[in-house]
Amino acid sequence: MPPAPTDHASRNADLRIGHGYDLHRLEPVDPRAGSNRGGRVLKLAGIELESPVGPVGHSDGDALFHAITDALLGALAMEDIGTLFPDDDESNDGRDSIDFLREASRRVKGAGYEVANIDCTVILERPRLKAHRAAMRDSIAAALGIGADRVNVKGKSHEGVDAIGEGRAIEVHAVALLKRLPDAEGAPA
Ligand code: MG
Repeated sequence: MPPAPTDHASRNADLRIGHGYDLHRLEPVDPRAGSNRGGRVLKLAGIELESPVGPVGHSDGDALFHAITDALLGALAMEDIGTLFPDDDESNDGRDSIDFLREASRRVKGAGYEVANIDCTVILERPRLKAHRAAMRDSIAAALGIGADRVNVKGKSHEGVDAIGEGRAIEVHAVALLKRLPDAEGAPA
């Protein structure tokens, strides 16, 4: 049997994979929306979508940015978005979620990795995402400083089943593959 890898060896792995998942309840959009109020304007990867309902959340509720942030942190074995940006911290109330993704991206680079590719699935009953997918890809790629050809966003309906199918929630899955930079030491951020 080969010896078990040490912490150091595993940090120096050429490839690391991470998974991220997020779900937000959707409620009628309330312009006064805050932590304890109704839905915020529906945004995915920073792109505003026309919708009578939006996510309830402490930050701006951008479930796509949240799932990708968790996928990157997961790949680095650096806990999760809630640990980094607690929802009982006032400064995160209504915060633009691009901040979370940028911090995760900074950590990826700090650990000596680059994003090889990211694949996401957004499960949302309405509106349909097709017309917005290119803008979402571009937005994610720009936030990470990578080409849009490394990012994919897929939209799925939940076929009327359960809360998501009834338009009462949005769900996002994301996977990210990180590739170690050729001359990186693999030091943690
Ligand atoms: Mg979230």
